[in-house]
Amino acid sequence: MNESIPFNRPYMTGKELYYIAEAHFSGMLAGDGPFTKRCHSWLEQRTGCTKALLTHSCTAALEMAALLLDIEPGDEIIMPSYTFVSTANAFVLRGGVPVFVDVREDTLNLDERLVEAAITPRTRAIAAVHYAGVSCEMDTIMAISKRHELRVVEDAAQGVMATYRGRALGGIGDFGAYSFHETKNVISGEGGALLVNDASLAERAEIIREKGTDRSRFFRGQIDKYTWQEVGSSMLPGELTAAFLWAQLEEAARITQTRLRSWALYNEMLARFESSGLLRRPVVPEECSHNAHMYYVLLAPEIDRHAVLSELRSQGIGCVFHYVPLHTSPAGLRYGRFADELPVTDRQSARLIRLPLWMGITEAQQQRVVDSLTHAASKLASQAAGIR
Ligand SMILES: *Cc1c(COP(=O)(O)O)cnc(C)c1O
Repeated sequence: MNESIPFNRPYMTGKELYYIAEAHFSGMLAGDGPFTKRCHSWLEQRTGCTKALLTHSCTAALEMAALLLDIEPGDEIIMPSYTFVSTANAFVLRGGVPVFVDVREDTLNLDERLVEAAITPRTRAIAAVHYAGVSCEMDTIMAISKRHELRVVEDAAQGVMATYRGRALGGIGDFGAYSFHETKNVISGEGGALLVNDASLAERAEIIREKGTDRSRFFRGQIDKYTWQEVGSSMLPGELTAAFLWAQLEEAARITQTRLRSWALYNEMLARFESSGLLRRPVVPEECSHNAHMYYVLLAPEIDRHAVLSELRSQGIGCVFHYVPLHTSPAGLRYGRFADELPVTDRQSARLIRLPLWMGITEAQQQRVVDSLTHAASKLASQAAGIR
């Protein structure tokens, strides 16, 4: 029996415990201590944002964006249905209405050509989700937002270290949200960051994150007491989390390079199966430089994905499908608005399989994944042909 190949294996650089020990012995355990400040500067330098603020999750960063935009009941936010629930939840919590628009056939990102038709007098924002760390067509999305005076929130949960025309994802719209969840490239267990690109909202972002108080200004000595300024919450992680994250950010470039090599290897190994029509590989537009967050394939439509996945699972190979489109989910139906069908979302999401990709996966393991996947897919393709 071959050893199993997990879908994900969190990578640790080796320095996490040293930095946690440093925070431990310094006695500074609450948020916004020295490690948090280091992470903030790193993010600001790396992305060019006005202000970076660590949060306890990307979900929290998206919720902060919805608060900063003063989303009110009935306000509409254009977003893909093919995304994680947090993209929608953050706005629904404020009474906002997600308006689900179809995705592009190639990148599975929000189809920028369909955005304008979905705009109504209630539209306030566009949530651009960069799937698999491959950017949405941001020039077009930003131009539409300018024309219609809409805000743009980038759900760049998967986009740390990825760029669009040389600009960091998360640093292009009004806000960007990063995730450092264990399943992402750069991690702190649970964790995230809000990138604020609109300087006029930077101070309010600090206030909302600190329970609605101006405590950050107080600690900088700018005021002599801090008070309740507006609606807020506690969105910041403690220093132990920031210490862990710092060890990861220091190595973010190496992590990305290593992942990109594994990604490229899959892409090379699978080329001939794309040529033979068994599957389709990911498409990365020229203006996007991605971060190898994910390697996925789209099986030929006649292949029974469920059967392929069970076959792989029985061999101990951790391949998995991804989002159940939000417009088909109970909460999506209750809170969202959309055309009856989002044909590309429906079709592509039903064909997609993600392959194991993590720091340390070996060429031999990748070969085994590819062999098992293509073997199972070919078998099911000929069965489908037989039935027909
Ligand atoms: C992971 C992810 C999130 C949520 O991140 P958390 O840090 O777990 O809150 C949100 N959106 C997308 C697209 C994601 O992939």
